[in-house]
Amino acid sequence: PDVPDLEALQYADVAALLPVPGAESDKYRRGVVGIVAGSARYPGAAVLAVSGALRGGAGAVRYVGPGADAVIARHPETLVHAGPPSKAGRVQAWVVGPGLGDGTDAVEAVRDVLAADVPVLVDADGLRLLDAAVVRARTAPTVLTPHAGEAAALLGVPREEVEAGRLAAVRELASRFRATVLLKGSTTLIATDDPHTPVRVNPTGTSWLATAGSGDVLSGLTGSLLAAGLAPRDAASVGAHLHGLAARHASDGSPVAAQDVADAIRAAWRDVR
Ligand code: AMP
Ligand code: MG
Repeated sequence: PDVPDLEALQYADVAALLPVPGAESDKYRRGVVGIVAGSARYPGAAVLAVSGALRGGAGAVRYVGPGADAVIARHPETLVHAGPPSKAGRVQAWVVGPGLGDGTDAVEAVRDVLAADVPVLVDADGLRLLDAAVVRARTAPTVLTPHAGEAAALLGVPREEVEAGRLAAVRELASRFRATVLLKGSTTLIATDDPHTPVRVNPTGTSWLATAGSGDVLSGLTGSLLAAGLAPRDAASVGAHLHGLAARHASDGSPVAAQDVADAIRAAWRDVR
């Protein structure tokens, strides 16, 4: 009865899911992804999340937060907004959390984004500011992308317990938050809150991904796929798949920095297509 129910996404599945714009498409139909990330302490997280998002297939990336100067310096195509996310204009999916810190602004930004009636991906510091009741009450989809330590904190158990039972942990989180949960690690697991839906396993990564900021790239990339219209489980699976392939391209057996991974997403995309 409790046989693990796992499935791997094949290249052909990923290819079919990539959001390629049709001849009549425009940037709004391709989707606008909103990124709420970065703080005085972690300015780079905003740049990395935006980098991932720009390569994810959405038509535009909107950045909300204190790091607009750094974001624009690296990515002049980004739309920026200084006020609360709810006033930022059209957004089809939000990513909230990378490098956000835990100040008052961060708390308010998470609350504001969760009130939006569009898909929301919560990562990193955003995960520390979550209220399960608020997340459960959302009508639009929620995606959570914890690593083992963040998953343990969300579940209120020691990290070792998550490491020893990753499948149970990802399922339990998905059910508790009524969300799609992507549990990061040497392999990535993706669960929905439906116990009869198989957990997806992504094996494309490399241990060179164990480097600061690589998770921020994944959250932006996956958020972009959500904005482009992929279902939460597919967005998370395709995001993890491309992220892992990008790391392999960037690394080729040598150390990589997170920005290299973002820059290699296009090569990963070409592999799959
Ligand atoms: P974060 O911990 O948020 O920076 O995210 C780290 C990223 O690197 C996630 O996508 C992980 O799945 C990936 N990662 C970390 N360690 C490994 C590993 N040993 N092998 C493959 N991928 C890894
Ligand atoms: Mg992280």
